[in-house]
Amino acid sequence: MKIQMKIPLVEMDGDEMTRVLWSQIKEILILPYVDLKSEYYDLSLVNREATKDQVTIDAALANKKYGVSVKCATITPNKQRVEEYGLSEMWKSPNGTIRAILDGTVFRTPIMVSSIKPAVRTWEKPITIARHAFGDVYRASEIRVEGPGVARLVFTGDSGIEIEEEIARFEGLGVLQGQFNKDSSIYSFARSCFEFALSARQDLWFSTKDTISKKYDHRFKDIFQEVYDQEYRARFEAAGIEYFYTLIDDAVARVIRSKGGFIWACKNYDGDVMSDMVSTAFGSLAMMTSVLVSPDGNYEYEAAHGTVTRHYYRYLKGEETSTNPVATIFAWSGALRKRAEFDEIPELIHFADDLEEATLQTIEDGEMTGDLVALCDRPATKLNSTEFLQAIGRRLEARIG
Ligand code: NAP
Ligand code: MG
Repeated sequence: MKIQMKIPLVEMDGDEMTRVLWSQIKEILILPYVDLKSEYYDLSLVNREATKDQVTIDAALANKKYGVSVKCATITPNKQRVEEYGLSEMWKSPNGTIRAILDGTVFRTPIMVSSIKPAVRTWEKPITIARHAFGDVYRASEIRVEGPGVARLVFTGDSGIEIEEEIARFEGLGVLQGQFNKDSSIYSFARSCFEFALSARQDLWFSTKDTISKKYDHRFKDIFQEVYDQEYRARFEAAGIEYFYTLIDDAVARVIRSKGGFIWACKNYDGDVMSDMVSTAFGSLAMMTSVLVSPDGNYEYEAAHGTVTRHYYRYLKGEETSTNPVATIFAWSGALRKRAEFDEIPELIHFADDLEEATLQTIEDGEMTGDLVALCDRPATKLNSTEFLQAIGRRLEARIG
């Protein structure tokens, strides 16, 4: 008997090679065992064009309604894609649209296997980076200073209040930048991080440069502390996990010396840079999962990589591809597990565990896709995408059957 579900999982299909993998993952690894109840949204670029991108909005609203979704990688159109797909408009990034509707924070976690060693020898467990995805330098206004003069920071309140501060006096050429963030967004970021830490049962670290930025970064620090003290301290203590704040310089040193196994929350720019460093040091983008968590507890699971276009063009020519499906499989297992936790379906939690273990076991046994063969510290067999999914399927069958 297949595992029954109670509430639909929101399923967002996508583009190119990952779309090909998507249907194979379902067919080989999910549908034989789970009576999948999903509300399906086709977020392929073709259907976004056909629906004038309404499908992306509908999918995000469904995620808000049901609480959990799993998303395939999607094309973010640029000029070349507008021509390739004959688009009537350069549709916005689906991830950006979904993030704006769910108001969430993105958490990225590497999937570890024993044959692929992190560049940092002490890392034994994954490090998850939580990046604040709003404001700061990404929404800054900039001025090229053309000659001598005074730069001032001015705030004009609707109430009539005016605050002014001299930034600098220029004797000659220079540059200027104005950044902002909003308390509402920082509160959401903080709550998403605390929620995720509880859900993962891992310590939460947060770091900024508050010693230098005594108002701006300090506000981040204060908001995190306030939310922790008022809303999460008791739950953290009950779960046996810790929250701690430290200066970013200190955090960097501690991360490198650590064994891993925690969540590191970063401001927007820090998270951008540190997530690339951490993911590269763990091995491969194809082994990195990503989950968007909203402050009110909605979850959207996906792979951190894109649609693997180069492989797709080879696939279209009928050539064999060895594209790594692991992060997409883990997006499915993560979403099914979260759905199962919400709906109290223990068999489905077991299934998600089995699926992940069968996947890792396959790699541990030396069968993997080409990208991993290149990183592996022992001899390994390169399989094409379908053979690899079937190899996982055999191990899954052995566990369940
Ligand atoms: P990408 O799809 O992540 O692929 C970049 C390269 O990384 C690939 O060509 C491949 O290298 C390697 N790679 C990534 N994932 C792999 C996997 N699962 N298995 C094996 N190799 C993998 O990034 P991109 O080429 O920059 O972007 C392609 C499209 O994806 C773009 O249209 C972009 O808008 C979209 N995108 C979507 C998301 C998302 O939906 N979350 C995120 C990023 C990009 P080799 O070719 O050397 O084998
Ligand atoms: Mg980056």
